[in-house]
Amino acid sequence: MSKESGDKGRYRDETLLSVLGRDPAANHGVVNPPVYHASTILHETAAALKEATFGPREYGKTYYGRYGTPTTFPLQDSIAALEQGHRTYLFGSGKAAIVAALLAFVKSGDHVLMTDSAYGPTRSLANGLLKRMGVETTFYDPCIGAGLADLMQGNTSVVVGESPGSLTFEIQDFPALAAVAHERGAVLIVDNTWASPLFCQPLALGADVSIQACTKYIVGHSDAMLGSVTTTEAQVEPVRRIFEELGAAPGPDDCYLGLRGLRTLSVRLHRHQETGLALARWFQARPEVRRVLHPALEDDPGHALWKRDFSGASSLFGVVLEPVPEPAVDAFLDSLGLFGLGYSWGGYESLALPTYPWKLRDATRWDLAYPLLRIYAGLEDPDDLIADLERGFEQMAAVRDAD
Ligand SMILES: *Cc1c(COP(=O)(O)O)cnc(C)c1O
Repeated sequence: MSKESGDKGRYRDETLLSVLGRDPAANHGVVNPPVYHASTILHETAAALKEATFGPREYGKTYYGRYGTPTTFPLQDSIAALEQGHRTYLFGSGKAAIVAALLAFVKSGDHVLMTDSAYGPTRSLANGLLKRMGVETTFYDPCIGAGLADLMQGNTSVVVGESPGSLTFEIQDFPALAAVAHERGAVLIVDNTWASPLFCQPLALGADVSIQACTKYIVGHSDAMLGSVTTTEAQVEPVRRIFEELGAAPGPDDCYLGLRGLRTLSVRLHRHQETGLALARWFQARPEVRRVLHPALEDDPGHALWKRDFSGASSLFGVVLEPVPEPAVDAFLDSLGLFGLGYSWGGYESLALPTYPWKLRDATRWDLAYPLLRIYAGLEDPDDLIADLERGFEQMAAVRDAD
């Protein structure tokens, strides 16, 4: 890290985003770190080669491309600082980061407790690879809090959290979950993608590992895939080891895009927050809408916990519609001009999706089996977005009333 990177205590986040992870003095005065395309790292002498091979490996020193380069280290160090963690390791996608984090802490015969609101591909990891390894998973109610203690088994090694939950947006009590996990010798691994490292720091709330799908807000432009695993000093060793064992290092161009995205993360996120809330409140006032799932809304069941543990809200939320036939929902989606229909989020462009959490749940029922939409507010003008949604509801009504 450069001398001006400093520590988190010295600067506020917006300043950190400008100063972290760069060292112009070491790079011919160039503002941003260069993109190093590297596999082989040459060592000057046989003695240096042997020292690098057999000696203790110092973090941040180049040894072989897969273990990190002067392009990957600055992004890792920046995310570690923002997440208030000891160290971050990067992977080729958010999903790869989740797989790595779980594999770092489970062995055959272990038991995992996973929130019922986990991201779909995180669930499939539990029901697929982990099961084949002989690791059993129990899904728990995302709002269980200290009640998690009743589900802990002697062999529970990992508790997985995600807040707010994918698709259903429940806020979890991380400090309560961490207390239960630690009391029984387990670690708490959480997916912090929704908040980004700016709006929540799970490690400061007791979690041992915080994951980012950097693909989303950190990259921020829908043009690269990247994931990060950030950990405390106490748990760094299993994460370092799995990073080396998996060998799933991301490419340098994608790391560059991640670092570049970080520079504008704060301005983007504050704008996303504002637009997301404007849309959420607009949806709340519509007769076609039964409920809006957004923890920053005062009447959301997770609002008090969100206020306690988060410093902001991002722009992904749920909209439960009043009962309406599926072709009418499709007409709504098909008529949208500014909202793209597609997976992922975190870019500058707005997105909409129909979602079906009741097909995934296992520990808890999702009683609202009405049409459910996931809305992602991008950086467009909020009034234009609202006008687009208004036209969508008109089309929805036309199809509904023609039935
Ligand atoms: C998208 C997403 C992921 C996975 O990230 P990829 O980079 O797409 O693999 C993980 N967790 C959450 C909450 C996500 O939204």
